[in-house]
Amino acid sequence: MFTSIAGYSVLVTGGSKGIGKGIARVFALAGANVVITGRDEASAKAAADEITALGGGTVTYVLGDVSSKADCDRMAAVAIERNGGIDVLCANAGIFPDSKLAVMTEADMDKVFGTNVKGTMFSVQACMPALEKSGRGRVILTSSITGPVTGFPGWSHYGASKAAQLGFMRTAAMELAPKGITVNAVLPGNIATEGLAEMGPEYRAAMEATVPLHRLGEVEDIGNAALFFATKEAAYVTGQALIIDGGQILPESLSALEAM
Ligand code: NAP
Repeated sequence: MFTSIAGYSVLVTGGSKGIGKGIARVFALAGANVVITGRDEASAKAAADEITALGGGTVTYVLGDVSSKADCDRMAAVAIERNGGIDVLCANAGIFPDSKLAVMTEADMDKVFGTNVKGTMFSVQACMPALEKSGRGRVILTSSITGPVTGFPGWSHYGASKAAQLGFMRTAAMELAPKGITVNAVLPGNIATEGLAEMGPEYRAAMEATVPLHRLGEVEDIGNAALFFATKEAAYVTGQALIIDGGQILPESLSALEAM
């Protein structure tokens, strides 16, 4: 049994939808007071209301763009003011527009790197003083298998950004260790989010067929892994990347999958 995180103050960037919303739900149900962020107010409010209705810790939202340093500073200040500090930052906000390398523009690259890489770094910078003050500060990044482990045509900029998060993580983990803060990452495989539902059942079935556990990940699968990194019992784990993908990266070939 892990020590309870009830009463922790948790900031989840991109907590208004998808994986971030799942992370926020897992932490709130464990009794944490969560602030979620996003740019669109309707979805942020809907997510906060939906999770609040389940009981557990408080869930509120603040709007902001993680690619803006000023917005990240403001979002951290709001979480500190509302919940008395920040114990855990889940730097999860990310985008994944597709573009083949042959037609990719500099603007495409800047957008993906601005959100996924600079957004991660700005979020961590904004929360660092509060995380140090907490005495049990944790940073949990949402990276991906795409980039650090696998490739997918159309997502070279995205894959580079997700690998960059891990490069950042390793040095940040060293710089923040003397402050008592750990920095780790979750690497999701294919996760069932609202966006996937729009692709239809056939697309989903095709994706499930490539996963040894024969199902897509649920957002709670990622939330539970993030929760582990936040526990007292994970205090000695830092600079690590945890893949949560149902075994998706394991088959070395199509015939390996067929042989199962
Ligand atoms: P999603 O459903 O599109 O949600 C993305 C969240 O990030 C939303 O809350 C969105 O809110 C927010 N966001 C996006 N850009 C932002 C910005 N510039 N500033 C502030 N918030 C921003 O995406 P998801 O699938 O849950 O992905 C979440 C993370 O998981 C990403 O880092 C992604 O790379 C990673 N991931 C996802 C999968 C998967 O299968 N879904 C797999 C591997 C990794 P607004 O749009 O309102 O701003």
